[in-house]
Amino acid sequence: TSSGDRFTATLFPGDGIGPEISAAVKKIFAAADVPIDWEEHRVGEVVDPRTSSLVTRESMDSVLRNRIGLKGPMATPIGKGHRSLNLTLRKELSLYANVRPCLSIPGYKTRYDNVDVVTIRENTEGEYSGLEHQVIKGVVESLKIITRSASSRIAEYAFKYAKDHGRKKVSAIHKANIMKKTDGLFLECCREVAANYPDIIYEEVIIDNCCMLLVTDPAVFDVLVMPNLYGDIISDLCAGLIGGLGLTPSGNIGHDGVALMEAVHGTAPDIAGKNVANPTALLLSGVMMLQHIGLTRHAEIIHRAVLHVIKEGRWRTMDLGGTATTTEFTSAVCDALKA
Ligand code: NAD
Repeated sequence: TSSGDRFTATLFPGDGIGPEISAAVKKIFAAADVPIDWEEHRVGEVVDPRTSSLVTRESMDSVLRNRIGLKGPMATPIGKGHRSLNLTLRKELSLYANVRPCLSIPGYKTRYDNVDVVTIRENTEGEYSGLEHQVIKGVVESLKIITRSASSRIAEYAFKYAKDHGRKKVSAIHKANIMKKTDGLFLECCREVAANYPDIIYEEVIIDNCCMLLVTDPAVFDVLVMPNLYGDIISDLCAGLIGGLGLTPSGNIGHDGVALMEAVHGTAPDIAGKNVANPTALLLSGVMMLQHIGLTRHAEIIHRAVLHVIKEGRWRTMDLGGTATTTEFTSAVCDALKA
């Protein structure tokens, strides 16, 4: 929400390294004079019957009210009989689009230094509709649901994103040669939307070919749009191309612009509480949040500062081969804001 020139955003610091990297983001945002007030929500240890999960109704309402949120990683207890936190947030907030910009980090050497790909994943249906059952003993069935409404919605999001971000091309990733009906409908919807965006190049690429192209020449891609399962896999592949999950931000967008941004990595229990975690992924997720609400100048200043610190190399955290603590890295970014 915004009142005057200020915004309120919900912040879930999360578990494990979450509180440390969230503190880093808050410090850097404050140093950059970002006009955001945080409404902090901790995820409890008791299941709230109103959401059937550890996320309370109050937390959910906070995101719905503020329209924007930033989320640290949350531990997903396995087999405790309640809904996963991430699934609860996604369903309750109708977050239908998962967006991951994967941009090579200058100075941090990976196989390619020219990756600049955005993956846009349909987040509500496809192979992850949760409809699996046993037909007879030894035979199970999983339903892949593709609807015209969800496909058109994600295609529209992808093209609008491309237009708003000055991107040139959208590639729809599919397997319609085999999945003629489901992926066929997905492509049909993409084509219909593409016709309304004549300035943006539209192409269709079969998923297997897409994988090969991504690992041999990632620069051929710009914006990728795809159904749920393909998006899950391809978005991690792209994160790997730029140096791993620790550097990759993401955004989950709902139908009326509600947005919950998050780092794609987990709670890193092995390094939690040691002040060595890299806050970059969460910070860049925060930068996505700023872009989403139109605070582009603040977004650019912070983005430039963090890239500068990583490139310069003096204050890199352990995961990037350095020895800097989270606090030292954070201070270096704050200093770089003024440069
Ligand atoms: P992880 O991402 O937490 O850790 C994998 C490895 O990467 C670890 O060695 C860790 O130290 C390192 N790492 C991750 N983020 C880092 C950072 N910012 N800086 C430095 N190093 C970093 O994956 P995992 O161990 O499979 O999962 C741990 C927990 O996180 C599980 O409970 C899982 O359910 C949860 N998880 C949550 C989310 C989420 O909330 N979105 C996503 C993935 C995993």
